[in-house]
Amino acid sequence: MEPFEYVRATTSKEALSVSARGDSQFIAGGTEVLNWMRIGIERPSKLIDINRLEGMSSIEATPSGGLRIGALNRLNDVAQHEIVVRDYPVLSQSILKAASAQIRNLATIGGNPLQRVRCPYYRADEPTPCNKRNPGSGCSAVNGFNEKHAIFGWTTDCVAVQPSDPAVSLAALDAAYVAQSPRGVRRIPARDFHVLPSENPSAHHRLHSDELIVAVELSRPWKQSAYLKIRERESYEYATVSVAVALDLDGDVVKQARIALGSVAMRPWRLLETEQRMVGQRVGSQQIEAAVQSGFKDARALSSNGYKIVIARNAVMRTIEQAARAA
Ligand SMILES: Cc1cc2nc3c(=O)[nH]c(=O)nc-3n(C[C@H](O)[C@H](O)[C@H](O)COP(=O)(O)OP(=O)(O)OC[C@H]3O[C@@H](n4cnc5c(N)ncnc54)[C@H](O)[C@@H]3O)c2cc1C
Ligand code: SF4
Repeated sequence: MEPFEYVRATTSKEALSVSARGDSQFIAGGTEVLNWMRIGIERPSKLIDINRLEGMSSIEATPSGGLRIGALNRLNDVAQHEIVVRDYPVLSQSILKAASAQIRNLATIGGNPLQRVRCPYYRADEPTPCNKRNPGSGCSAVNGFNEKHAIFGWTTDCVAVQPSDPAVSLAALDAAYVAQSPRGVRRIPARDFHVLPSENPSAHHRLHSDELIVAVELSRPWKQSAYLKIRERESYEYATVSVAVALDLDGDVVKQARIALGSVAMRPWRLLETEQRMVGQRVGSQQIEAAVQSGFKDARALSSNGYKIVIARNAVMRTIEQAARAA
């Protein structure tokens, strides 16, 4: 790790002005950024500690019936908050399946969607062709080790997946990340926050380097919702595939559905056609199965990850059943 200056900001204005003056990184929980510095992915000259910033640690119901979660809330605090448990079970479940209890006590909900790909070539100690690490150098995974890589939205320039669990439920719930910068405040839809390789293979997300995520906003409760994470072991493991489902039901008939898959693309992958085709159908019916099937017509396997398509399809069916039984 190379030497760096540590700056503790007390206001967002101060954090943003220090950040504007050079090559720097914010640090919240530090569970991701310190790893980048250790491996050499990032070599910031300044680390700007944002943990003392005011107004970013509350969780409050909004007047319009939604929820605003301050970006500095620790993952465990979000997952265990009574409103989140009651009204957004999919979010609570997705957080509790992320990392370990110790990491969740430090990691923040604002830092989590900014985590980077777990592709072994991206995180390698030795220089390896990787368009995300060294733009223009190529992609080692497309014809290399790609068992855990993308089945949707990949190009030969990058086949990595975004590994966050909470980001998947936030995409399903149509949440927004609230970003503050010297230019003002903007809301970035969670389902469009991460960048596909067809747009830019070296990018990770749409947040600018001079922007702070100050909160995550949810527009309405989704009590009938559930998260399923398929992984190689039951704890402390990234997803092979994950699924977030939120339903509005009339009896067992679907009025509205939201479905996002995780660890299958460079962003949480919404099954929009499936969602539309489920409306008016009974949970458990053949029509629901056909609707789910239609969501996979664009899935494309790499040399070693065809199994993920089968797992993902079955996982969606299971999670729909789980969400229908919730609350
Ligand atoms: C061993 C291990 C296992 C893990 N397993 C999982 C898992 O299964 N599922 C999962 O989802 N995650 C997993 N993670 C990732 C973990 O959840 C993230 O590291 C964590 O959420 C990042 O949050 P942080 O507050 O620590 O971010 P930091 O490390 O502090 O920051 C990460 C990045 O975000 C920026 N940043 C932080 N907060 C803000 C903000 N408010 N505004 C703008 N920029 C900001 C920083 O500048 C930096 O670029 C794992 C991590 C580890 C180390
Ligand atoms: S999949 Fe993406 S992150 Fe992995 S080697 Fe290829 S370009 Fe790099």
